[in-house]
Amino acid sequence: MQMSPQLTAKFEKLQNAYPVKRSALIPMMMYAQDEFGYVSDEMIAEIAKRLDLLPIQVEETLAYYSMLRRKPMGKYHVQVCTNVACMLRGGYDILDQARKRLEIGHKETTEDGVFSLEEVECIGACTGAPAMQVNYDFYENLTVNKFDRILEEFDKGRKPAPEPVISGALHDRHPLETPLISSRWGIKDSRKIDVYLKNGGYKALEKALKQMTPETIIDEVKKSSLRGRGGAGFPTGMKWSFVPKDSPKAKYVICNADESEPGTCKDRPLMEMDPHQLIEGMVIAGRAIGANRGFIYIRGEYRYVLDLVEEAIQEAYQRGYLGKNILDSGFDYDLLIHTGAGAYECGEESALMESLEGKRGYPRIKPPFPAVVGLYGCPTIINNVETLSAVPSIINEGGEAYANRGTPKNGGTRLLCVAGHINKPGIYEIPLGMNMKKFIYEMAGGIPNGKKLKAVIPGGSSCPILTADEIDLPMDYDSVAKAGSMLGSGGMVVMDEDTCMVDMARRIMHFYAHESCGWCIPCREGTTWLRKMLERFHAGLGRPEDIDLVGELARNMLGRTFCPLGDAAALPTISIVQKWRNEFEDHLNGRCAYNKASNELLLGAR
Ligand code: SF4
Repeated sequence: MQMSPQLTAKFEKLQNAYPVKRSALIPMMMYAQDEFGYVSDEMIAEIAKRLDLLPIQVEETLAYYSMLRRKPMGKYHVQVCTNVACMLRGGYDILDQARKRLEIGHKETTEDGVFSLEEVECIGACTGAPAMQVNYDFYENLTVNKFDRILEEFDKGRKPAPEPVISGALHDRHPLETPLISSRWGIKDSRKIDVYLKNGGYKALEKALKQMTPETIIDEVKKSSLRGRGGAGFPTGMKWSFVPKDSPKAKYVICNADESEPGTCKDRPLMEMDPHQLIEGMVIAGRAIGANRGFIYIRGEYRYVLDLVEEAIQEAYQRGYLGKNILDSGFDYDLLIHTGAGAYECGEESALMESLEGKRGYPRIKPPFPAVVGLYGCPTIINNVETLSAVPSIINEGGEAYANRGTPKNGGTRLLCVAGHINKPGIYEIPLGMNMKKFIYEMAGGIPNGKKLKAVIPGGSSCPILTADEIDLPMDYDSVAKAGSMLGSGGMVVMDEDTCMVDMARRIMHFYAHESCGWCIPCREGTTWLRKMLERFHAGLGRPEDIDLVGELARNMLGRTFCPLGDAAALPTISIVQKWRNEFEDHLNGRCAYNKASNELLLGAR
């Protein structure tokens, strides 16, 4: 296996890019796989030698990540998403067509080696559902015909043009929208530094470096009431203030760009269309906590976005917004973008740090929290892409003005993705506190085909599901929590009256069982058992006692797992059993009132 000069150069750069060599492990495996189609024994030995590891250490890390392979797949690896947003818009029809057309099943390759097929979890294209990736390219808003046309092109050895920007990110602005961090979307070449500078870019950094102290930056962020947009909603300024000022250790800023929560796809266009805004936010965060180094951990599926952000990072270095003595302030800051390799669990902050250190993405026991003991044992703050992208606006307009865009304790605007049974799926920037019902019916156009609304996942698949009667409420963290759910990661999925809620419970649990890292028993065993029971139920083979058993098993997972994935799996399940028990009872009688196409796939395919 002869490595190309490009791969050799990439390896050499990566080996020296991190404070600890092993951190280069996952990117090196991903790039080796890009070149050879899989990670061979030879490559494992080569990488181990370069990183001073044993081959077994490389292999055991590789085995954890779903995108890394030990045998080749087809030249064109077709990955069809069937997670909730895609399922509601025909994802299973696409999968079915892929099976028929290619005459292969999940993770199989055609005899000529041209195509392979995989049913995958959420790929971050929910507002363009149903969607698939062929290798790293995204194809969205699929129909069976569109899918066939795309495959015909590949058959002829031509690559059809992939979707350049996530569907739904660009649309006519609704009068109720308040574009702030998405204000440059749609401007030609918005990702380029000159366009960013022409539109107010890097002014906040200049202000933060020349007119503010680290303390006043943190105060301003506290005043803004900015809460983490990744899911937990923790106050950002407070998180930053936990970093010990007097620690002699290096400090780090990590951007969590591992957006993987089903229903959520707004970090992808934020990075694609405005990467400099994120870079600016990260340098300001570094200045605030005294960090001279940042990392962007991006999910492996977003490879083209990684390349675009990398270009922006290089531009920022060339213009003096990264590197030594930024804007003559004496402040130094280096930034590196790092690829993940397919593991939802790595969106959890401590698992992400393990992964960034080149290990399996197992979460760490807390405390200590990352602000004190984080990456390489050093003080670290981890914030989501949307959170860090809001920082330049806060510095520019002041914390109070930013806070006033939202409601008390819920400052600013928020990007909301809306997918599923909705007339205008898309990504909207709204003030926090907007009424959910108004948002669904006025901004997002209501439910297609004159159907009635049945249910709403308000902020990603780990949230308890709301009924149509429960959505007349302000969309801020506290109000949605009071209604028994969460605003989460901003991934709203809407379901019409024809949706089978048993099927929904089954699909959600399938995802969490697939993504459980297996470290703790209640999550590993609980998600596996629940997945089996829900699949059995949906196939009409459930037992009457299973209805209560599903609820009980899920409740027993709550609060008993190392990381929040156990709760994430349990909460939507509990809400479905409580609110749509009648649908479970219907399935006992061998009926699914909703006759979903996925029915017949269930028993045969899994
Ligand atoms: Fe792993 Fe699940 Fe336990 Fe989290 S809750 S540590 S994902 S087994």
